[in-house]
Amino acid sequence: MTNAKPCPECGQKNLFVTTTNSGGGYGPMLLPKLSGFFTTAKFEVVVCADCGLTRFFASTEARNRLATTSNWRHL
Ligand SMILES: [Zn+2]
Repeated sequence: MTNAKPCPECGQKNLFVTTTNSGGGYGPMLLPKLSGFFTTAKFEVVVCADCGLTRFFASTEARNRLATTSNWRHL
């Protein structure tokens, strides 16, 4: 997420960011097996206010679990 600017679609820097859960309710688990014991894995969501491109970045905590779970493999 550190290099989110500028927008890769339109090149502008009018970006907004928030944090949201990666799953729950009736939707799919988008970051399976990367949640903590009491917390759901989080996304930082970056939206470009000029073109609408929306990007999802797994939180640091979720990324730190990637190497220790067999549910995720290197490409
Ligand atoms: Zn844009």
